[in-house]
Amino acid sequence: MLPVSGRILRNFQRLRLTRCSRAQGETKRQMKYILVTGGVISGIGKGIIASSIGTILKSCGLHVTSIKIDPYINIDAGTFSPYEHGEVFVLDDGGEVDLDLGNYERFLDIRLTRDNNITTGKIYQSVINKERKGDYLGKTVQVVPHITDAIQEWVVRQALIPVDNDGVEPEVCVIEPSTTGEQKTKPTQNSVRELRGLGLSPDLIVCRCTTPMEKSVKEKISMFCHVEPEQVICVYDVCSLYRVPLLLEAEGVVGYFKERLNLQFEANSRRLLNKWKEMADRYDRTLETCSIALVGKYTKLSDSYASVIKALEHAALAINQKLEVKYIDSADLEPCRQLDEPVKYHEAWQNLCSANGVLVPGGFGFRGTEGKILAIAWARRQKKPFLGVCLGMQLAVVEFARNALNWSDANSTEFNPNTKYPVVIDMPEHNPGEMGGTMRLGKRKTILKEKNSVLRRLYKDCDYIEERHRHRYEVNPEMRSNFEEKGFRFVGQDVEGERMEIIELDEHPYFVGVQYHPEFTSRPMKPSPPYLGLMLAASGKLQRYLEKGCRLSPRDTYSDQSGSSSPDSEIVDLKLSAILTQES
Ligand code: GLN
Repeated sequence: MLPVSGRILRNFQRLRLTRCSRAQGETKRQMKYILVTGGVISGIGKGIIASSIGTILKSCGLHVTSIKIDPYINIDAGTFSPYEHGEVFVLDDGGEVDLDLGNYERFLDIRLTRDNNITTGKIYQSVINKERKGDYLGKTVQVVPHITDAIQEWVVRQALIPVDNDGVEPEVCVIEPSTTGEQKTKPTQNSVRELRGLGLSPDLIVCRCTTPMEKSVKEKISMFCHVEPEQVICVYDVCSLYRVPLLLEAEGVVGYFKERLNLQFEANSRRLLNKWKEMADRYDRTLETCSIALVGKYTKLSDSYASVIKALEHAALAINQKLEVKYIDSADLEPCRQLDEPVKYHEAWQNLCSANGVLVPGGFGFRGTEGKILAIAWARRQKKPFLGVCLGMQLAVVEFARNALNWSDANSTEFNPNTKYPVVIDMPEHNPGEMGGTMRLGKRKTILKEKNSVLRRLYKDCDYIEERHRHRYEVNPEMRSNFEEKGFRFVGQDVEGERMEIIELDEHPYFVGVQYHPEFTSRPMKPSPPYLGLMLAASGKLQRYLEKGCRLSPRDTYSDQSGSSSPDSEIVDLKLSAILTQES
């Protein structure tokens, strides 16, 4: 896709200048595209910059959407290994997409659809389908113009899809195209030169540095890259991601975009950013630490659990706790490790036992599942707060069956198809033999019938919730009563009442499992209830929270829209005006 990107990018510049009008002749507001591209190295936060730019524009009252363009030929991220690519993010419509879309959703508090992630595979598929239908009228179908046009049409179409709750069409679309390996190794000047070679001039050059950039360095980049020093933005290392939008605003980015894109908004509407400032300050201030053992499989690459970690962070921040994640490779907990790698084995158990809470996230494949079951058994017996997500919930069912119902051979048919006690079984719509696109995916309803369920209370006593799924297997409904007789309750089901969505264990401070992935809809200012429950229980605050009608104490609450409900927020306001001097 890369060789054709120049043409596409140029076309977007042209598009910016084109006015389109509605059928009735009334002039429609023109879509503004902001393209974020990078040329030096990967993993320095291009996605965060794109999200932060969107956030500050949204804080100015604009409706902002975003599109990620990936160069790979895979249709989507569904078949990616978390080892290689990090987590697969799931959207409401079941789209399995790049984890950067998770950042956009979290930062902008929007809901995207699968078409917001474009891949070379999707584009070629659509062009080939059109060709088969004869839509090209016998012409030779070529990369230029057919592929390039298809990308462009896709973006223009998708940018108009509302992503906010109010259903309003976006005015700004932030596009992030990821680049291929060779380009990433080239230094800034080279990448800008290359961009110019494609007929494009950068409007802003965002530089990542460890400390604030010296004036002379800024001038040097400005000279090399033929831009004004104001167009060189420095994003230095900050203690939390929450500071990035604030940093960009302090660098004058809002004013720049307002002028460059001729955007209509009041420059002073910063209520949303005020909250970001508050969050960032709170993050810096929190002293109390709460540790969660994350018992998973892909613990070498923390990106594999990106949304899980974010959800824990959101919950921790909401209750003024500093999150410490203890990554545990579940295979290290298994008895065979005791002989092979005793140090690893003991370290893993030491980590697990010293954590305030235990989380077993989603996953696929047999490796490490026995270790996860051991961790769950430990949390259940020791009454340690526990949250099992998807596979984590399924294994909690297996653990209970084996150790409390004494069905020693119990398992999920994913790991032992011949088990005598298949407590977790294949989904009926599971399509054997085909990878990708055969799972129960996306937003589904869960009915919360049980009034005395902790999770129902955490979900503010809702009768039903809608959360995102990604699984093939499910709890075997035939064995439900055996579990419930022993206090292992299924407190949430799908609309038909057949699929077990939530488990809770009686007489335990917090032992919860969810078949869905609540982490995908957690937001910095709206922590996900199951995660909040875990953090509250792990920090000894859950009972009080439930007794108080699920309201956080004033100390724990973010100030209201006016930004001045607590004494703290006055300090926040003062600091805010200090940090925003440049723009005002
Ligand atoms: N492997 C399990 C299933 O397919 C769990 C999937 C998951 O945790 N996302 O049902």
